[in-house]
Amino acid sequence: MNLTKPVYFDFAATTPVDERVLAAMLPYFREDFGNPSSIHRYGQTAEAAVDDARRILAQCLNCQSDEIVFTANGTESDNLALRGAAMAARLKRGANHILISPVEHHAVSVTARQLADAYGFEVEMLPVDSFGRVDPEKLASRLREDTAVVSVIYANNEIGTVNPIADLAAVCREKQIPFHTDAVQAAGYLSLNTATLLVNLMSIGAHKFYGPKGVGALYVRRGTTLLSTQTGGKQENGLRAGTQNVPYLVGMAEALRLAQTELPTRYEKVRILRDRLVGRVLEEIPGTFLTGHPEQRLPNHASFVFEGVDGNTLLMMLDGAGFACSSGSACKTGSPEPSDVLLALGLSPQLALGSLRVTLGKDSTPDEVERFADVLPDLVAKVRDLLGKRNG
Ligand SMILES: *Cc1c(COP(=O)(O)O)cnc(C)c1O
Repeated sequence: MNLTKPVYFDFAATTPVDERVLAAMLPYFREDFGNPSSIHRYGQTAEAAVDDARRILAQCLNCQSDEIVFTANGTESDNLALRGAAMAARLKRGANHILISPVEHHAVSVTARQLADAYGFEVEMLPVDSFGRVDPEKLASRLREDTAVVSVIYANNEIGTVNPIADLAAVCREKQIPFHTDAVQAAGYLSLNTATLLVNLMSIGAHKFYGPKGVGALYVRRGTTLLSTQTGGKQENGLRAGTQNVPYLVGMAEALRLAQTELPTRYEKVRILRDRLVGRVLEEIPGTFLTGHPEQRLPNHASFVFEGVDGNTLLMMLDGAGFACSSGSACKTGSPEPSDVLLALGLSPQLALGSLRVTLGKDSTPDEVERFADVLPDLVAKVRDLLGKRNG
């Protein structure tokens, strides 16, 4: 057992709060603790902070301030987008059809399943290619007059693949069908310019880009109608009632501002390290495949499947060797079920169980990558040996 602090290679699961972000948040816990809805000066100070945070987010998304809805996380943004748009479209025009990709995060896919099972919506899966991408022409051929909302993930959390969001959104815009994208994973590295992305709805969550956990936002284009899923006060245009989490909103805004300012540097740095890692793993370990698109993918994201390997066993061995990685989505399931996302790419359940996700961060180092690539071949061989014995 390696007792030094493990190397963290799971930045798609979450990131540490940047110290500059924490510094921006701190005053709003104690000195400036007011409720943004109060009339007095405490309230005014808090309201000004919320307004500033909204303005900064709007700048980052190239949109208007009133198009930003603050939420409690990426999951809530996805829920509000999908459920809110589906319900509004049903009330407004009797629409009953929902289109999503089969590689959505559970925040979208399980929400869609509930809309089908409990609310009677017809949910249809768009086809994806073997990299997990949705083809705009295939989307066009499946749009219907009664389509309530379409949702396609921007950058996939498990396989890193980036979808052609602007092209997909353009197809929906032509038919005036609201288009949502889950940009939670994309936000740290890809453009969030809503003027060029053409989306109606876009979800982000702060803890994926060095902001705090428990805060997110939904971009809602002017003219896109949602039914509020949390009712009460008039906060967030009535779309999300409840006193705003002032320090966290301030933190999210600062984190996104920093992510965009430092984007070119962060992008190149992680891309070079990631390419080195992928190169060594594919070259030095036989029976290994990259999952997701080789180029159209997040710059910090590497994901593999290994023949004859149990992913969970490999993760435990990596943990023992001092590396914190993931096998796909962050959910720790005791029962080894192959990931829906990997199955949707056409992988066999057997191969899908042998997955590994390695995601780098802005402060990852070449030395960490080399050490990882040094130990992985032996660990994979060990797991293969174990599995061979168990089955043989
Ligand atoms: C992490 C993640 C979410 C969920 O965001 P939370 O803020 O953790 O609720 C949704 N979608 C994608 C693609 C993610 O990576």
